[in-house]
Amino acid sequence: MANILVTGANRGIGLGLVQRYLKQGHAVIATCRNIDTSPELSKLSLQYSKLRIQLLDVNDESSIIDLGHCLTTLQMTLDMLINNAGISIMEPFEQWSIDAFEQSMRTNCIGPALLVQNLIKQCNTHAKIINFTSGVASMSHASNSLQHSLDAYAVSKTALNMLTIRLASYLAERDISCYALNPGWVQTQMGGPKADDSVEQVVEKLVPLIEGLKREQSGQFINIDGEILAW
Ligand code: NDP
Repeated sequence: MANILVTGANRGIGLGLVQRYLKQGHAVIATCRNIDTSPELSKLSLQYSKLRIQLLDVNDESSIIDLGHCLTTLQMTLDMLINNAGISIMEPFEQWSIDAFEQSMRTNCIGPALLVQNLIKQCNTHAKIINFTSGVASMSHASNSLQHSLDAYAVSKTALNMLTIRLASYLAERDISCYALNPGWVQTQMGGPKADDSVEQVVEKLVPLIEGLKREQSGQFINIDGEILAW
């Protein structure tokens, strides 16, 4: 059984993964900004003794540092760190704002970078770091997604892809892998109700996909169907 940390675990894909991993018997650290926003997570904590809920705002460096200290104090190690927390702000060209770009970069790229930096000492050999990226982060296929006004989001997830490559390189000597995974279009607050997959459906695909990721694939940009995506 593994020790798994999931960020942004109070709703959406993060919550779905927490539910599934707990059902499988793993120990899960579910992080969220505010536990009051998630009756589901509170209910799970009554059901599963292997669930630990920790507060974490990935935009706040002191919150990240506190989580690192907390895991060190508790002597908790990690087999998997899932950088799931993310935001998407829709702003079309000519209405762009500094705020949208800054917030997107902070949450979707800088937060994961600092979180890995602060939790790496707690990561066991063979640990996996999963960064949830997006199809719109692909520079090769950028022309397919220009209509969505997801510019700040796309830029921040492309930066996250680069972060994934760099981390994969730095962490190889510690035998820790890092992957950029695209979960596809999912029915969450972010994806909206018309998306292809429900959270349950995507979790059904994600769990075996993550389980099957090989060390040699570290640093790759991987789609929900297991296909390697073009950068
Ligand atoms: P949701 O919008 O449903 O959930 C986002 C989660 O991130 C929430 O738990 C939210 O917490 C949390 N979060 C946002 N900002 C912060 C922060 N500063 N600190 C901590 N937590 C934060 O999104 P999804 O479940 O759909 O997305 C999960 C991941 O998958 C994201 O990285 C997203 O980019 C990626 N993805 C999703 C797609 C989709 O179609 N849904 C498509 C491609 C990628 P709070 O409730 O406090 O806001």
